[in-house]
Amino acid sequence: MLPNPEHLKNHPELIPETVEQSLTRAREGEDLRAFVALFDERARNDSIRVRDALLRGESLPLGGWIIGVKDNIAVKGQQLTCASRLLKNFRSPFTATAVERLEKAGAIILGKTNLDEFAMGSSSENSIFGAVRNPHDRSRVAGGSSGGSAVAVAAGWVHGALGSETGGSVRQPAAFCGVAGLKPTYGRISRYGLVAFGSSLDQIGQFASSCRHIFDLLCVMSGVDRMDSSSAHMPPPVHNGGLRPLEKSLRIGIPREYFVEGLSAEIRDAIYKVVEQLRSIGHQVIEVSLPYTQYAIPVYYIVATAEASSNLARYDGARYGWRHPDAASLADLYESSRGDGFGSEVRRRIMMGTFVLSAGYYDAYYRKGQQVRRCILDDYQRVFLDVDVLLTPTTPTTAFHLGEKIDDPLAMYLSDIFTAPANLAGVPALSIPIGKDGNRLPIGVQIQGPHFSEELILRLGDQIESLDKAGGE
Ligand code: GLN
Repeated sequence: MLPNPEHLKNHPELIPETVEQSLTRAREGEDLRAFVALFDERARNDSIRVRDALLRGESLPLGGWIIGVKDNIAVKGQQLTCASRLLKNFRSPFTATAVERLEKAGAIILGKTNLDEFAMGSSSENSIFGAVRNPHDRSRVAGGSSGGSAVAVAAGWVHGALGSETGGSVRQPAAFCGVAGLKPTYGRISRYGLVAFGSSLDQIGQFASSCRHIFDLLCVMSGVDRMDSSSAHMPPPVHNGGLRPLEKSLRIGIPREYFVEGLSAEIRDAIYKVVEQLRSIGHQVIEVSLPYTQYAIPVYYIVATAEASSNLARYDGARYGWRHPDAASLADLYESSRGDGFGSEVRRRIMMGTFVLSAGYYDAYYRKGQQVRRCILDDYQRVFLDVDVLLTPTTPTTAFHLGEKIDDPLAMYLSDIFTAPANLAGVPALSIPIGKDGNRLPIGVQIQGPHFSEELILRLGDQIESLDKAGGE
């Protein structure tokens, strides 16, 4: 395992060799297909620069942290493929704000991680680089779409990794790979430099091995950015020595809509066990209802595909990315470049999105979808008058087999049934591991809270992590 970042900050001389080790291990683990590029030279140079700065006594809150970045987030001069044939040779002319802030704080970017094409998927199998494998069982998926980032953390090659969330792409792979993953409040972290999928849902999130580390990353990455007008005018959480232990008792809501048919009995039992432990240390557990949860998947696939069809219109074969070499006319250029450049799942999304936005269907689907989205938000706002947080499963099952759902898009879409509601409502949500099932596959629990309550949900997550240690799996 990597020396932890606190140790590296006190022993900066170890940073270059630690980066070297990370590069070697990530290369040895290539068959997991977590990384799609390693920044050898850049990471080595950064390791020396950060070491020297720390030795000079500069204060770098994330000095020596080694980080992986999902390959739909921009790092200047580096590839930005989105795992798509269309952007295979594209290099980013600028760096995402979130990455820039991490680097300024002393973090070292190890490389780019694998994903589903344009972040569309729940298994990290839709990638020109091949499917990501789950380190707990290589015949299974890592989850998606940020599967590569989850694996890089689970394998112990990096201290943290960035993913993106539109409907669960950080939390679901975090649950499948047994690491912590946060989707912050919409607007908490600038989206500048994140390739757009569904702009009203998209948010950069982070993976780490503990809630404390997620908090360290969040404090540096959050805050308004003039390059993203949807970033919130909300000061970042105050770091002040790190995540503080939870001292008060909370009202924890257990929404009945998340404990329905289709939820694995082992996951349900694992969650109930945590609930009992939380009750025994003084938290109040309250059964609640969010009746519109059942519409989250249909609404998500209307809103997300509508926005995707519009966002992806920019890949026209003329401006950037792949251009079909023998197009006969302009229309042919668009058609052939997009037709050959995009994979089948991306094309399916564009077609669905174009359909729900088209004249005659707009009111029936898109407008109705927006109205129900509002009802989902109202559900949360009402329930957060009675409880401080919600505790639910992250996923209905543990990691499934590679290939199991690839030909069944609807089954794949249902993987996000417990995660998509938070994106639709914009609330923060966290997944942390709480043990393993009979196949030794990680199980995740999800904590959701009101807008901008990241610190609270992380403090509860931290408490659950410590319960786990005391209580065992
Ligand atoms: N799995 C969902 C989808 O395919 C969510 C993806 C995401 O959060 N980026 O759209």
